[in-house]
Amino acid sequence: MQADDRLDAIRGRIAHAAKLARRDAAAITLIAVSKTHPADAIEPLLAAGHRDFGENRVQEAEAKWPALREKYPDARLHLIGQLQSNKASDAVAMADAIHAVDRSSLITALARAMDAQDRRPACFIQVNIGEEAQKGGCAIADLPVLLAEARSADLPVAGLMCLPPVEVEAAPYFALLAKLARDEGIGGLSMGMSDDFETAVMIGATHVRIGSALFGARA
Ligand SMILES: *Cc1c(COP(=O)(O)O)cnc(C)c1O
Repeated sequence: MQADDRLDAIRGRIAHAAKLARRDAAAITLIAVSKTHPADAIEPLLAAGHRDFGENRVQEAEAKWPALREKYPDARLHLIGQLQSNKASDAVAMADAIHAVDRSSLITALARAMDAQDRRPACFIQVNIGEEAQKGGCAIADLPVLLAEARSADLPVAGLMCLPPVEVEAAPYFALLAKLARDEGIGGLSMGMSDDFETAVMIGATHVRIGSALFGARA
C-alpha cells in the first residue's frame, strides 16, 4: 500500500473512533511522523493534501523541510522529540508546534527565542506520565509550576503531550493525561501513536502522532 492509501485508511479509523466517542473527527489533527523518512516518501502525502508532519530532530527537519516548504508553504511542522535548550532558537524558527516542552530551562530558552524572533509556535507540555526514569517529560507533580512558568513567559500553551510506557495498555495513561489537562483548563492533548491512536482518540486526543502505520517501519 502507498502512503497516501494508508493515510486514507488511518483517517477512516480516526473518524470511526471519533464517532464512537461522539466527537467531531475534524477536531483531531493527524500528525504524520516523517522522521527518518526522506523527502521522496513525504511528498506523496503533501500532494494528497496532508499538511501536518512531525519530526523529532531539529537538524533532520532543517535538512528536509525548507525544500518541501518551498513547494508546499502551508505545510505545518510539529517538533515532537526531546529538545535541547541550545536548539530552542532553531526550533522556534522552523516549527509550527513544539510538543516536548518539559523543563524550566527549556521554557526560558524558548521564551527568549520567541521574543527575539517575534514568532510563537504552539507549545505542548510533555508529562512523564508513567514516571519512567529514562523518559522525557516533567514529573506529574511538577506540572502546575511548569505551566505557570510557561504562561508567564508568554509561551502559547496549546496542550499536554505524553509517551506512555511501552507494552502495557495505554488507556489509563491517556486518561490520566486527559484528567491533568481538565484540571488545568487545557484543551489540547497530543497522545496516541501507530499502535494506540484509536484508544487515544476515544479518550480525547486532539493530536495523534503516527509514523510507522503511515510510512512503514523505520530502519
Ligand atoms: C516516532 C514518534 C512517534 C511515532 O511513532 P509510531 O509508533 O511510528 O507511530 C510519535 N511520537 C513521538 C514522540 C515519536 O518520537
